[in-house]
Amino acid sequence: MRDRSLSPAASTAAMRASSRRRFLGRLCAAGAAAALPRWSRTAEPAPRSLGVALVGLGSYSTSMLGPALQQTRRCHLAGVVTGDPDKGRRWAAQYGFPESNIYGYDTMGRLEANRDIDVVYVVTPNGLHAEHTLAAARAGKHVICEKPMAISVAECDAMIAACRQAGVGLSIGYRLHFEPHTLEYIRIARQREFGAMRRFDGAYAFTMGSTAAAYSAWRINRKLAGGGPLMDLGIYVIQAVCMGAAEAAPLAVTARFEPVTRPELFKQVEQALHWRMEYPDGVQGLGRASYNDSISHFRAEATHGWLDLGDSAFQYRGQQLLTSAGERDFPSIFQQVEQIDASVAAMAAGQPSPVPGAMGRRDLAIIEAIYASARADGKRITVTV
Ligand code: NAD
Repeated sequence: MRDRSLSPAASTAAMRASSRRRFLGRLCAAGAAAALPRWSRTAEPAPRSLGVALVGLGSYSTSMLGPALQQTRRCHLAGVVTGDPDKGRRWAAQYGFPESNIYGYDTMGRLEANRDIDVVYVVTPNGLHAEHTLAAARAGKHVICEKPMAISVAECDAMIAACRQAGVGLSIGYRLHFEPHTLEYIRIARQREFGAMRRFDGAYAFTMGSTAAAYSAWRINRKLAGGGPLMDLGIYVIQAVCMGAAEAAPLAVTARFEPVTRPELFKQVEQALHWRMEYPDGVQGLGRASYNDSISHFRAEATHGWLDLGDSAFQYRGQQLLTSAGERDFPSIFQQVEQIDASVAAMAAGQPSPVPGAMGRRDLAIIEAIYASARADGKRITVTV
């Protein structure tokens, strides 16, 4: 696997053209510009590195976000919020921040007085994202919140309002908006290099271990997860379709739950489902998400060509971009480094995030419509964003 760093020019060019139903596209373009580490190519002094506190020290924080924060240029790990003080002390020793910057979920209010911490990054189970985002905003901290932004549109509205009221930024952990193959797909779609986009088809699935303990038990708990693989994995397919549709939400969706073959696990959330997103002029996006399969694929067809992000379309690494005009080769990057730096740069500049709360809210509106359709045996449900 190649491992070169992302050319800022490739990143900007890919994000430059924007349309959207229009708002989100403009936000994305502004955010991509903010992602450029301009000081690294000029004599300007580097801006102050902002301090980030991770909330929830589970597998994603441990394997990806902690290491990413050692490579970010705009920010560094300055503290943690955890239910396990011993774990907090281990993180303080490993990452070199003072033990006074370890908080519990019930002491997040005290973050307000901590000048080391500018940004709170929420990495807890989905059903706790709203609570922890609100606590961070009340403490006057910018927020990066993992996907899905929350488990309902109503929660998203409360999060957006709280951040606006506190005057802090809100960014969602959508890492693929910074991945070069994905950015090139967005550029090709927006510039209609292969004509108008006509059809999208994607699936994301992994097989959950045979005991809940083999994977985080909260993922099959409705209250904590908000839903099953649609919330966790299908959201990437929804994102990819919207990327190719100028960040527009579909007009309507239809969806079906798939049979439950492992009822011992999937009592509260679906095991698998598939759906269709309907756009004007017959354009459609097909999606599938499952906790009992192994797929990570996305393909898009336009009037004069096609694009395929390969069999690692939604992974941390390994993306490809095969097209009807040949393969487009790009470096493999540390997606989370670019995602965090771009979000923090926008916050520091007082600009909207390239992956803002409005985008997270749009995706929850689509998810709610997909669940409504699946519960109504495939009835067509209009999407309201
Ligand atoms: P995890 O189970 O490994 O970690 C969750 C953390 O939350 C743990 O430290 C746990 O102790 C803590 N927690 C706090 N309150 C809890 C409660 N009431 N019940 C259970 N745990 C509680 O999960 P994870 O895989 O790290 O996922 C965390 C979040 O990150 C999820 O929202 C997930 O969707 C997101 N995520 C995003 C990506 C990505 O690529 N962007 C990848 C993985 C996970």
